Amino acid sequence: MSSFGGPLRRHVVREKDFRLQQLQFDNSPAALRLWNFLLTENQRLHQARANGDKIVGAMKDLGTVPVMAYALPDVRAFYPDGAWWTPCLMECGDKLLQQADGMGIDASFCPVRAMLPAFENGRHFPRPDLLICSVGAICDDFSAIAQRLQHLGHSIVWWEIPRRRQPALGEMGCALPGNLAAPKIQVDCVRRELWRVCQALGQLAGKTLDDGSLAAGIRAANQARRLLDSLRRTVYSAPAAPLPALEMLVAEMLAIHFCSDRGEAIAVLDDLLAEVQSRVRQNQFVVSADAARVFWVNPVADLRAMNLLEELGGRICGADFMFTHALDLIPEDLPPLEALARAALADPMVGPASDRAARIVRECRANRAEAAVVSRIPGASHCAREGEVILEIVRRELGIPAIELEIPPVCDAMRPTLGSRIQALVETARARRTR
Ligand code: SF4
Repeated sequence: MSSFGGPLRRHVVREKDFRLQQLQFDNSPAALRLWNFLLTENQRLHQARANGDKIVGAMKDLGTVPVMAYALPDVRAFYPDGAWWTPCLMECGDKLLQQADGMGIDASFCPVRAMLPAFENGRHFPRPDLLICSVGAICDDFSAIAQRLQHLGHSIVWWEIPRRRQPALGEMGCALPGNLAAPKIQVDCVRRELWRVCQALGQLAGKTLDDGSLAAGIRAANQARRLLDSLRRTVYSAPAAPLPALEMLVAEMLAIHFCSDRGEAIAVLDDLLAEVQSRVRQNQFVVSADAARVFWVNPVADLRAMNLLEELGGRICGADFMFTHALDLIPEDLPPLEALARAALADPMVGPASDRAARIVRECRANRAEAAVVSRIPGASHCAREGEVILEIVRRELGIPAIELEIPPVCDAMRPTLGSRIQALVETARARRTR
């Protein structure tokens, strides 16, 4: 029986997660379990520390290092990057963004800057016993903030991920998950880097992280990824949405580090899948069948935006929340570090925007998208031009209406503008049905 029940109101009262009062939730026990699981992550990490577990702060790679960390007993990995959503959940009551300003990391950086004061004030997540951060093909925002952390005395194990490129003519290449390829020399480089990460994790745990443990970790991660894949297929291909967009965004996020509890993450996904399968069988949907099918690109800084889309007549029929490599199965027929290196190199954010756009186009086609939204993240250096590139390719290849929207951590002041633009998109998509 899950201990992740009980009313969500307690997170408003105790954690001051005021944004919850503005969100519309799915009313199933499975969704309640999902939300309680998500909203108790920091408590769980503090409890794990009190129980003597080692805490690993993985940064930036979104999906690879946690697979390795959870292969060791009594080790938990989480992403301090997740402080990204704290200003939204607390409606900026935490003052993390203002504190980041005071530390010289102003609004020209994306909301991940909330991570810096969260490390310093220790009021959110516990200080990790080990910090691991990818470097190389990463955004300027994260690179600058992680370097500042190091200067503030937080020791970091850096590992390099090169910018992914296609193998040149005659150069030996490797297939990557997600229909991608990279030169073997890049895969070898990442494999050697991940070997260093293995050594650091093994030292922390006092146990060698060998191939057998890594292979078991990969199989467990794939169990979560298979469940998520079934959930995505069931929800995004259904004639109408059997689960709201907001809960789908949260469920997809479980893939990156299992929300600090791999077993519970798998159980939560299992419950959600059973719920949506039952709803589809009974023709029970949460959004009208007439809703415009929208493909959504990038996570929203304000979770409320997911509700807004549905209130205005849209539904999600697919999404790329910037970590599609964490959704794909990690190869189980390769030596584990080779498999993890290939999975890490499939990160949509380490390759060209055109690769990312090609996958978006494929998924839009498969899920019969009628429109696309690229949600821009304020200050984010990764997407200054990327959104335009993706939109251009989506419009050219599919001919569907597609827009870019910037969504701040609390979007209430922007509600009229966002609303009109989403409504126009939905109406345009619907009008095209009658042509
Ligand atoms: S700039 Fe983009 S990729 Fe970098 S931390 Fe911010 S949201 Fe993530």
